[in-house]
Amino acid sequence: MRYSGLRLIKEALTGNKGWVPAWRDAAPQQSYDFVIVGGGGHGLATAHYLAKVYGRSRIAVLEKGYIGGGNVGRNTTIIRSNYLLPGNERFYEFSMKLWEGLEQDLNYNAMVSQRGIMNLFHSDGQRDAYRRRGNSMILHGAGAELLDRDAVRREAPFLDFDNARFPIKGALMQRRGGTARHDAVAWGYARAADSRGVDIIQNCEVTGFRIEQGVIRGVETTRGYIGAQTVGVAVAGASSKVMAAAGMRLPIESHVLQAFVTEGLKPVLPGVITFGAQHFYISQSDKGGLVFGGDIDGYNSYAARGNLPVIETVCEGGMAMLPMIGRARVLRIWGGIMDISMDGPPFIDRTHIDGLYFNGGWCYGGFKATPASGYAFAHLLATGQPHETATAFRLDRFRTGQAIDEAGAGPQPNLQ
Ligand SMILES: Cc1cc2nc3c(=O)[nH]c(=O)nc-3n(C[C@H](O)[C@H](O)[C@H](O)COP(=O)(O)OP(=O)(O)OC[C@H]3O[C@@H](n4cnc5c(N)ncnc54)[C@H](O)[C@@H]3O)c2cc1C
Repeated sequence: MRYSGLRLIKEALTGNKGWVPAWRDAAPQQSYDFVIVGGGGHGLATAHYLAKVYGRSRIAVLEKGYIGGGNVGRNTTIIRSNYLLPGNERFYEFSMKLWEGLEQDLNYNAMVSQRGIMNLFHSDGQRDAYRRRGNSMILHGAGAELLDRDAVRREAPFLDFDNARFPIKGALMQRRGGTARHDAVAWGYARAADSRGVDIIQNCEVTGFRIEQGVIRGVETTRGYIGAQTVGVAVAGASSKVMAAAGMRLPIESHVLQAFVTEGLKPVLPGVITFGAQHFYISQSDKGGLVFGGDIDGYNSYAARGNLPVIETVCEGGMAMLPMIGRARVLRIWGGIMDISMDGPPFIDRTHIDGLYFNGGWCYGGFKATPASGYAFAHLLATGQPHETATAFRLDRFRTGQAIDEAGAGPQPNLQ
């Protein structure tokens, strides 16, 4: 079924009886050419591009829970391509271009909204760093503007410009950045993949891999054994646990990241704003809630619930940047498990097992990467070669001394 304005009118006039489920509830077959483990944004996007761009069939996505139940439905929905290093920037810019055509590609309203992202700076040194980053973005075609204090004031007059500790001196602006409706992205990819014959199998946890003489043969699941020629794992916060079943130990730590949403307010924030003196970012949802977040909790955890010190720090950042936030009532706080790599960027790579591929370690940046991650992973699964935008995301980059240290923080996951 194609969604369109005409379809909407027709259904409205005929009692909404013609709608069909957005995807089939597929039962597992004995074997597939491609099995994708993990039905989050990345797994579903991979299946979609495998079928659509690379013309592959006999594809299944195996999801432990339900579609949209993982981080793809828990994030703060920011999309942007404002990176410094070439290893990152060309990949995230590729993703941004895919976002720009995504709704037409999927025939699904993912509420992609390019309302702009402003990174505030508070010192001369920080301005220099943002200028360098902006130049890198311009060189990669991503677009960037360095705003002075007056220009920021025109965009967001309610910020605390004369804060005694962190006065606002300007901002790096990417007007093409913004937000997208997170779970709609998962639903849109699921629907598009299903329409091309991909089996989306929910409530199907992968519990092990069948590997014979270094070659993948299939996966053990809670719904029985499923054979596969090629297996791609994209399980976000569960990467270390799942890959351990294949005998692999990953350069990843798992932490909880919390997010916050307030009661609905009238439109007040023009776009996404990030504080430069501490990790704090905020936008306003289409329903009116202020959506914001900060750092990961500083300890390893698989609990999708965080702790008070980070909540306090996030609220302090919010108050320092945007004092009026103190009057808003927080409705919900939740957490998701983030796989943090040692240098910040992710992995999209083959493993030492023939036919087994890995996609993970997305840190804070996995949502914005969803389209490019799926595309690049599909390319890798279909051709055995890394996609041109994702050649740097190798599992062996620490051994070969080719870490991509965007934050300049060294091998410390809590600082990425
Ligand atoms: C609070 C929070 C805020 C964030 N904000 C942003 C943001 O603003 N911008 C941004 O770019 N990124 C953000 N992120 C990061 C982003 O959400 C993730 O990096 C991204 O969603 C991960 O990829 P995914 O969508 O495939 O993950 P998921 O949706 O988590 O998908 C992985 C799936 O694998 C399934 N799975 C796990 N184990 C198994 C198994 N054994 N068998 C089968 N299935 C399994 C899980 O159930 C899950 O559905 C945020 C994350 C959090 C938690």
